[in-house]
Amino acid sequence: MAAASRIYQVAVPTPLYRLFDYLSTGSLAAGTRVRVPFGKREMVGVVLGEVKQSEFPLSRLKSIAQALDAEPLLPLSMMNLLVWAADYYHHPLGEVIHTALPARMRQGRPADGSGVTVWALTPEGRALDPTVLKRAPAQKHLLEILAAAPEGLDAEQLAQISPRWTVAIKSLRRKFWVTPQQRDSVTVSNSDIQGSPQLNPGQKSAVTTVTTELGRFRPYLLHGVTGSGKTEVYLNIIEQVLALGKQALVLVPEISLTPQLVERFARRFRAPIAVLHSGLNDQERLNAWLAARAGKATIVLGTRSAVFTPLKNPGAIVVDEEHDASYKQQDGFRYSARDVALMRAAREKIPILLGSATPSLESLKKAREGAYTLLELPDRTGGAGMPAVRLLDMRRLKPSEGLSLPLREAIAARLDRGEQSILFLNRRGFAPVWMCYDCGWVAPCRRCDAKLTLHQKRGKLLCHHCGVEQAVVASCPACQGVSLHPLGEGTERVEGALQLFFPRARIERVDRDSTQRKGALAEKLRRVHEGEADILVGTQMLSKGHDFPNVTLVGVLNADQGLYGTDFRSGERLFQLIMQVSGRAGRAHKPGEVLIQTRHPDHPLFAALQQHDFHGFADFALAERRDTGYPPYRHLVLLRAESPAPGASLNFLRQARALAQRLSPNDCVVIQEPLPAPMERRSGRYRAQLLVQSSERVSLHAFLGRWAAELADAKFSRKVRWSLDVDPQDMY
Ligand code: ADP
Ligand code: ZN
Ligand code: ZN
Repeated sequence: MAAASRIYQVAVPTPLYRLFDYLSTGSLAAGTRVRVPFGKREMVGVVLGEVKQSEFPLSRLKSIAQALDAEPLLPLSMMNLLVWAADYYHHPLGEVIHTALPARMRQGRPADGSGVTVWALTPEGRALDPTVLKRAPAQKHLLEILAAAPEGLDAEQLAQISPRWTVAIKSLRRKFWVTPQQRDSVTVSNSDIQGSPQLNPGQKSAVTTVTTELGRFRPYLLHGVTGSGKTEVYLNIIEQVLALGKQALVLVPEISLTPQLVERFARRFRAPIAVLHSGLNDQERLNAWLAARAGKATIVLGTRSAVFTPLKNPGAIVVDEEHDASYKQQDGFRYSARDVALMRAAREKIPILLGSATPSLESLKKAREGAYTLLELPDRTGGAGMPAVRLLDMRRLKPSEGLSLPLREAIAARLDRGEQSILFLNRRGFAPVWMCYDCGWVAPCRRCDAKLTLHQKRGKLLCHHCGVEQAVVASCPACQGVSLHPLGEGTERVEGALQLFFPRARIERVDRDSTQRKGALAEKLRRVHEGEADILVGTQMLSKGHDFPNVTLVGVLNADQGLYGTDFRSGERLFQLIMQVSGRAGRAHKPGEVLIQTRHPDHPLFAALQQHDFHGFADFALAERRDTGYPPYRHLVLLRAESPAPGASLNFLRQARALAQRLSPNDCVVIQEPLPAPMERRSGRYRAQLLVQSSERVSLHAFLGRWAAELADAKFSRKVRWSLDVDPQDMY
């Protein structure tokens, strides 16, 4: 062991709630990656800082094998944010840091942003008729695929298309039909820049309110119906942030669903934009991340994990559709990107703008109490009115294949006028149940407490929870009868029914099944925009971000699913969803109409929807939450457990509860009885959960800290897989 060694605390990605001490003779700043011996292997950890003493004798400490960064990879502000997040979510810091780093950095690769090589067609290649290559099918295939990918494809993508792509590319290169190029992860628009429209008074006031206080922490909630000009407000604020030489971080729920938003940013600014989306390969993701860290990308646009992108000169954060559930990570380190973004803005002393047509009740309550500044955009731009909302009482109307007569007539009227319709149904597949009409048997999943969904086009029964696929049984395993039938409707069945009702209509289905192929979604959206489709039927994918000016009818087929759901947020989600899909209908000169099929037309949620009264809905939803002791009035934490052994999870939770009571939290922390999860068995594992409620964060978190640490050490914890979920988004 070296004599003048210093002791460093290092965060290593393990499930243990502690840091590890290592020795090094060098000087290492916090945020530097190091390779350290850990058990029998080496791991990549991150230095937290130097300490004077270790609780272990020096002779037992191991030495850092290698420092991986000359400069700290993570700036101090990010390190502090991650320490806060580990503390708040009661998740091991090593894993938190690991989650926040791009894959290449986790693997210990050097932090340099080299370009990514892509292959693209030359002008000669583009002019070529692929049939000249009919003797070389592999080359012909690549040529055709590259013709559809003007920005080129990288090695990873080409390998997916053909395992022997290198040989084919070599031949194509020899003929000068294909050429390698460098692809940049940060794009600067080279088209004409489009300026801002003249802002309306509401927009102007929102922009002024935010921009007069740049340079300090201020949280804002921008509430404006779909099409009220929220994005325009973001763009105007960002313009001023960039003018100060600062960077803007923009979080969105799902980029693949909102290509229009990215385009709008690109058209507006001649600034370098880094877009962090799921289509990037590891190197490109790293490049974008490094460009943000170096201050080279002035706008960083990304989904959930982008909240951890370091910025050299942070100026403002925007969280679009702040209510969206996808901001919450649902496994491992279960953080909320929106809430982390708020803490980040507070620490970086910059404004943060949360935007939504349907803010979460959590954010709304904060705004009503004055903790956030509420900015309202009450009207749609360009004088467009809100669509009329009509309820179709399904207790009286007999639907055919899920479609009531008034809804079919409304679609027919749109077809006559050359306008488009959207039908929304939150269920993919053909039918959610495959049933024996003789004895009532329904096809179950063997690994989950769930029914299998019939997918007719694939000719399979599928479990939407574990993904298992089974053949469609033709005779009943219970009674040997043969009258098996699909029950209920999914998007696939409705699509088929529409084809029968409206044989001349052009129908597009948008759900996870129909958009799996890369580019399929973009192609469908293009067809809708160019007027090459008359009816769109799809799942909640349709509710996000798209603008369809020629859509004048929105039909909601099974609204009741959410009314009395098992989750306390079901009603809130349903309201948000219908508001969002309704927002797709009708623009300036063509008023829209929304038809909702329901068996509960008297539900107050629908009355609020008909008035477009978000605040009215929020009033009664908040009152209900207050009375039942749910967020935002009480804070929730779920201790979840799962195990292949029946009973093991509940057993663990009982012991965890006893431990909690021994730690004697004060009265304002309530620990409920453990319960099986609403769907107890999933993928062959039995799941259970224990709910902790508290009206007060400080004592809750003090208690959680002690509890989590003891649980991590307890012997009884080893029999199950467990996790703490602070501020859970769904109760499954
Ligand atoms: P939101 O983000 O609230 O859905 P957008 O910012 O996308 O609203 O605005 C909806 C449409 O209205 C867009 O086509 C946008 O270009 C346009 N728009 C926004 N603000 C104005 C304005 N002040 N004047 C004219 N058009 C506007
Ligand atoms: Zn039967
Ligand atoms: Zn299953």
